[in-house]
Amino acid sequence: MNRPSELPFLPFALPEIGEEEIAEVVDTLRSGWVTTGPKARRFESDFVAFLEGDAPSPRPSPPDGGEGVAGLEAIAVNSATAGLHLALEALGIGPGDEVITTTHTFTATAEVVRYLGADVVLVDIDPATLNIDPKAVEAAITPRTRCVVPVHYAGLAADMQAILAIARRHGLKVVEDAAHALPTTHRGQLVGTLASDATVFSFYANKTITTGEGGMLVTRDAALAKRARVMRLHGMSRDAFDRFTATTPSWYYEIVAPGFKYNLTDIAAALGIHQLKKARAFAERRAAIAARFDAAFADLPLRMPPLPLAGDRHPWHLYVVRLADDAGIERDRFIERLFALGIGCSVHYIPLHLHPYWRERYGLRPEQFPHSQHAYERMLSLPLYSKMSDADVERVIAAVRQALGG
Ligand SMILES: *Cc1c(COP(=O)(O)O)cnc(C)c1O
Repeated sequence: MNRPSELPFLPFALPEIGEEEIAEVVDTLRSGWVTTGPKARRFESDFVAFLEGDAPSPRPSPPDGGEGVAGLEAIAVNSATAGLHLALEALGIGPGDEVITTTHTFTATAEVVRYLGADVVLVDIDPATLNIDPKAVEAAITPRTRCVVPVHYAGLAADMQAILAIARRHGLKVVEDAAHALPTTHRGQLVGTLASDATVFSFYANKTITTGEGGMLVTRDAALAKRARVMRLHGMSRDAFDRFTATTPSWYYEIVAPGFKYNLTDIAAALGIHQLKKARAFAERRAAIAARFDAAFADLPLRMPPLPLAGDRHPWHLYVVRLADDAGIERDRFIERLFALGIGCSVHYIPLHLHPYWRERYGLRPEQFPHSQHAYERMLSLPLYSKMSDADVERVIAAVRQALGG
């Protein structure tokens, strides 16, 4: 029998990059066009086709019966953080405004609000789903509230039906942080095609698909898309590829705003084109591993990750368990034991209200976020990625049992 300590360390996360991605990157390098160009455009149009083709859905009607709703647009950026920043900037969020989000997230969700000089209002989660609690959102609304940013935590859709209804009632914008949520459905509809103002996906190294670093901003709001495209590249009226392919002399452009440097390179997009094709297969593999974990841990003093509504899809970006109060071991000690058994783990997340910047800026106390705090003290994320072999999965199961028993 294998002694776990003799096996190589099993990292918490690993990307799955195939020969298709490698060949496409090499093709890009040989093409002479390495920054944003034809591959980034193809990745954008493939992304729209992925979202629209997968779960064809009727276009939502315009929120205030105003201008017509255009088609879905995808804007490739060099991170989800950039995409969130661009979406909020295009919506006109600025000083004096408040944006409501969950404390149980990565700091990127909230920091972009501060880039714009607006204020972050953190609210607690629903302990059943670990997602932002719509009742807490409604209770936090003030005359200054402009926008809500739900996070689809671990890949499980937030209660968008409730959040969109609240936003409609109070005239608020909604930008979804879908960094974990490709592909996720909410009541049968893919995240990215819901009736929010914008949705942002991440292709960071450990996300459900990766371009190394990268992100995608998706919206049906033509004005938002137009502003985000300009602000993605220095506030230029036309980008380098536009000018490169123009049929008239192409040196001329205008700066219409002090924009950012947020464009995705074709090298990264080359990865994304093939990762996107595999997104469903990756999600299916992770779902199968999650189901194996659920079955194997059923008799242990662990609270399993929440499941999606019947009929909905969950891409299992994270597999988050919470130690029961009678588990007889503290979370930190449990992670140390797993580490000693050769298993990498992580914690998602140290809630924002515990970080010095957020705590001090807004005078936050853990008692204001009892559900996030309670979950944080007991939670850990186990390795779960498509590249894991069945033997890796069984090794994690054996280590968890041993760490809890020993
Ligand atoms: C990873 C992540 C981000 C940021 O994504 P980047 O592409 O690294 O900028 C934002 N929100 C959440 C919830 C994340 O997990």
